[in-house]
Amino acid sequence: MTDLVFLRDAYQTEFEATVVEINESEIALDQTCFYPTGGGQPHDTGTLTIDGTSYQVSKVRKAGDLVWHTVNLPEGEAGQTDGEAPLVGATVTAKVDWDRRHRLMRTHTAMHILCGVIWNEYGKAVTGGNMEPLTARMDFEFDPLPEGFGQRVQDLVNDEIAKDLPIVVSFLPRSTALADEDLIRTKVNLIPEFVTEIRVVDIVGLDKQADGGTHVRATGEVGSFEVVKTQSKGKGNKRVRIALHD
Ligand SMILES: [Zn+2]
Repeated sequence: MTDLVFLRDAYQTEFEATVVEINESEIALDQTCFYPTGGGQPHDTGTLTIDGTSYQVSKVRKAGDLVWHTVNLPEGEAGQTDGEAPLVGATVTAKVDWDRRHRLMRTHTAMHILCGVIWNEYGKAVTGGNMEPLTARMDFEFDPLPEGFGQRVQDLVNDEIAKDLPIVVSFLPRSTALADEDLIRTKVNLIPEFVTEIRVVDIVGLDKQADGGTHVRATGEVGSFEVVKTQSKGKGNKRVRIALHD
């Protein structure tokens, strides 16, 4: 299985690992700092260096216990054992593209701040969302949106960013997590029962969620928050588009 280093340390971007499996142009490692697409957060990019040759990582996905890194191997080399291709058991030196990752961390944290602010101010829950580096959309259960919503929410989020609230990641036993009121609100009960340890991302004093994504250490790192647009996506579903600025 692949040890998911990013769950414990979102700031580690360089690491050594061992190739455990190769499948066409995908490489699985025994550990990784590369975030695989999931939970609304897109995968990282970066490089894997094997025997002095660097390969660009264009896609990262998790399947079962393994994280697969798609690399642009020259045709014919992928998975071959002719001495040119990365072999199972080979040591890899890896580096995550930090600019992209950090922008995604800022964006993911901004989305949680938005969730917390909207819950506190309006008592409305998030129903979905998606992000790219420095932009995102989130859907909420409003019908209709209150007057002045966009500006109000933008101001409130920027207030929380100015407070530079710490963000604490912890791992709780399932029974503890299921008894936590804040986590119940964010639907922790929907996590499959085989998950016995639940990772919690706590923007202290604002928003606590079961979450597998990567986040910054404190809200001040997010930057300046803008509500770009609000849209109706049907009854009881209103979309908020956001952007971050330095
Ligand atoms: Zn999240």
